Amino acid sequence: MSNQRRPLIAGNWKMNGLRSTARALADEIATLRKSQPDSAFDMLICPPFTVMETVGSVIENSGVFLGAQACHTALSGAHTGDISPVMLKDAGCAHVIVGHSERRMDHSENDSHVLAQAVAAIEQDIIAIICVGETESERESGKAKDVVRAQINGSVPANATAGNTVIAYEPVWAIGTGKVATPDDVQEIHADIRKTLASQLGQDIADGMRILYGGSMKPGNAKELIALADVDGGLIGGASLKAEDFWAIAQSCPSQ
Ligand code: PEP
Repeated sequence: MSNQRRPLIAGNWKMNGLRSTARALADEIATLRKSQPDSAFDMLICPPFTVMETVGSVIENSGVFLGAQACHTALSGAHTGDISPVMLKDAGCAHVIVGHSERRMDHSENDSHVLAQAVAAIEQDIIAIICVGETESERESGKAKDVVRAQINGSVPANATAGNTVIAYEPVWAIGTGKVATPDDVQEIHADIRKTLASQLGQDIADGMRILYGGSMKPGNAKELIALADVDGGLIGGASLKAEDFWAIAQSCPSQ
């Protein structure tokens, strides 16, 4: 954490939530956020598309941002089953997650798709949260840094700024598994990501850009992770589905 960067606590609900449960969860999160209007962190929830409107209306004016979990690169047209960034903007989204490892795997998305999605989102004034991270075998063979560097080089747009882009480092083997990277490993990769961003975009942009950690972040480990010099918040899956846990993670951010 650095005073220069405002932490972001982002919840990725994945394929979870029906209208009733989503409304109740969003309402609990909004109520907690409103109880601390001056908190020194941003909060974001990314529900499935089907409950976007429900969640958006519940969190309106609460200080919690609305985001999406993916988007297409085109503005509209013949792309069955896809959602464009224009539609996300229309639905009230301020952010979109791109390149999540589950999308990279389930939908064969590669760095050039992720880059095009980030460019399309930024063009619509939506903040792109670009996910990167190595698999277990890549880590075990000592390639974690190289893999993440290549993902940053291949998926971060040339016009990325600290205002329009957030990076999320999510080691694939830590997502939803309960395994968490050690603080030393997390800091090492985050510092390397910032160095890579600096060579690509310039030191000022790199210094201002938020880099989130994601992968089994919980109330019990969040404080130690968020305190690391180059960690600026979290992208949280499982623990974002319980308002109490999500809020406890947010409370791990330093109060400044
Ligand atoms: C995620 O999917 O982005 C994630 C980090 O999941 P979890 O917190 O459940 O590991």
